[in-house]
Formats: sequence, C-alpha cells, structure tokens
Amino acid sequence: MENTKEMRTWLDDMKLDHPLVIAGPCSAETEEQVLKIAHQLKDTDVNYYRAGIWKPRTRPGNFEGVGALGLKWLQKVKAETGLKTATEVANRNHVELALEHDVDLLWIGARSTVSPFIMQEIADALKGTDKIVLVKNPVNPDLALWLGGIERLHTAGIKNLGAIHRGFSTYEKSKYRNIPEWQLAIEFQNKFPDLPLINDPSHITGKRDMIFDVSQTALDLNFDGFMIETHFDPDNAWSDAAQQVTPDRLVQIMNDLKIRKESDPEAEYNSELNNLRANIDIVDNQIIDLLGKRMKAADGIGKLKKEKNVAVLQNRRWNEILGNMVLEGETRGLSEEFVLRMFKAIHQESINHQEKIVNK
Ligand code: PEP
Ligand code: MN
Repeated sequence: MENTKEMRTWLDDMKLDHPLVIAGPCSAETEEQVLKIAHQLKDTDVNYYRAGIWKPRTRPGNFEGVGALGLKWLQKVKAETGLKTATEVANRNHVELALEHDVDLLWIGARSTVSPFIMQEIADALKGTDKIVLVKNPVNPDLALWLGGIERLHTAGIKNLGAIHRGFSTYEKSKYRNIPEWQLAIEFQNKFPDLPLINDPSHITGKRDMIFDVSQTALDLNFDGFMIETHFDPDNAWSDAAQQVTPDRLVQIMNDLKIRKESDPEAEYNSELNNLRANIDIVDNQIIDLLGKRMKAADGIGKLKKEKNVAVLQNRRWNEILGNMVLEGETRGLSEEFVLRMFKAIHQESINHQEKIVNK
C-alpha cells in the first residue's frame, strides 16, 4: 500500500480542532433509545453517531441486534440532529442495506477482520463507494492480518480509510477486556503514519472507569480519535453494559483529556517527548509484569527443591544463564556490566523467594 496520505483526506477535510469522536450505543435497541442518545450528543464534539444494528455475540442466545429496521432509526437521527451516522457491517447484505440507508461511515468488526473471505466479500460489495470505512484490528494480535484487510479495501478502490484499535483477546486474565498491546499500534503508525488511527477504549477496557486513562494514552501516542460507546442508561443497556458511559460523562472525558497539538516547534518537541515517554511507560509496565512472572516460576522451583531436598543455589545453571544473557544483551546494545548487574539483582530476588519457600 502506498500513498496512505490520500486515505486521510476525509479526516483532514473535516478540519477538526479536537480528535475525531464517534459515539453512541453499543447496540440500537429501540427507536426511542437511539433518538434520545443522539439528541443528548447533538451539541457536543461528537462527529459520528454509532449504533450496532447487527451484533456479533460470542455466544448465541444474547441480543443479536435489531437488524435492518435500526437503519431507519439512524436515518431519523441524521434528519433530526444533523449527526452523521456509523454502523458495523459484516457481510455483503449488511453493506447493501447500509448504503441504501445513507449510513456515512461503516466499520468492520474485529471478528470479521480475522477472515480474509469476509474482508474480500465486504471489499467487493463496497466497490465504487466513497463512504468512510474503518477496519477494527482482528481479535488476535496480528498486524499483517489487520493491514491485509485494509489492503483489500484499498485494492477495491475505497479511498476513505482508517483503522480502529480495539485491543486483543488473550487467554490470560488481565485488567482489560481486550489487552491494548500498544506496541502493535505503534508499529502500525510507523508503517503507515498517514492512515487515520482511532482508539476504541470501550472494547479495550470493558469497564467505564478505565476509559479515560486508556484514551489519554492513545492521545499521547498520537491517535487521531476515539470511538466510545455511549448510552443514557448504561447499566441497563442490552449489550456491553459495563463499558458504556453517559453522554455527560463522554463530554467530561473529552474536556479532561490533554490534547497535544503539533502546531509549533515547541509543541512538536513536547508531543514527540510524550510519545516516547508513553512508550517507556508501556515497556516499564511490561518489565514489571515479566519480573512478577519470573518470580512465580522461581516459587514453583522452590517448592520442587523443597520436596526433593535440593539446595537453592545451583551454580552451574546460574553461570550458564548469565553467559547467555550477556550474549543476548550484546545483540541489543546492552553492556556486559549492565546485564551482569541486572541479572544478579534478579537472581538475588529469586533466591530470596525460594529461601522463603524452602525454609517455611
Ligand atoms: C462494537 O463496536 O460494538 C463491536 C462489536 O466491536 P468489536 O468488533 O471491537 O468487538
Ligand atoms: Mn460493544
């Protein structure tokens, strides 16, 4: 894919003085609900009104969306509030219905991006349209698959493109619903710096209390905007109740976010600095997380050693680790002195952990 600059014309043409905001309920539930939320978002920074019409649910038996009927409600939203509209499409039929009902922006959900067949079907159905199409990252952290989906649309002649970062599934428990894996988003930006990148803190966090912090990190990493699920009665929403925020809360989040403009050299420097610092914060958190995991493994070894009555310190194994790590460090520009000092500290902490267990 070349010339990704052309893909962001739609966003540049909007001449926004704030990040792009796409907001609205996870699902369209009733006509009243759709219109009520839209009216509450009418005089805010919201640029596009979202509502899911067809809902991809992990397990059957949950609310699966109101279907094409909801598209009529979105038309009413546009007529009554002037807000542009957005919805998710997952097959040719959805695309045709959304186009018939003048939906302004279409997004492709995480469960569709994983399937090249679906992506191709959607790309073929969209041929010739000048709608804005945003591609969510696939559920698994696979940058090539994400870019591949965007490429299929681009090849089908769709010019107004962008990506939505909504986090990734993991087997391991975490505080997120879908872990952000910010590195992947950073790599994405490095490869295609001009492709608009929108953050979806709702699906990353799964919890409304965490939305602000994730949004601020996204801004610090130069994201172009947000998609945030919004409902007048989040707790009673028919889907994703825990992560939706009220329109008032959305306005407050947008006001509190520190938006870093890149207009003068000083601001550019600060923005670059914030970007790098956000990077460092992410890596530091990973280091702590990994060290915690390492100590858990050491605890397991401590238990085994206690059972078998083996000495905690195994010198030969330890010297092997040190030698390997010095070599690995060298290939990453780390001095021998630093690697030795760091691993001695880590080793000491492991020994302390194991001693505690063996002598319990
Ligand atoms: C959504 O935006 O409502 C949605 C279903 O998101 P995702 O595809 O990210 O799970
Ligand atoms: Mn949702």
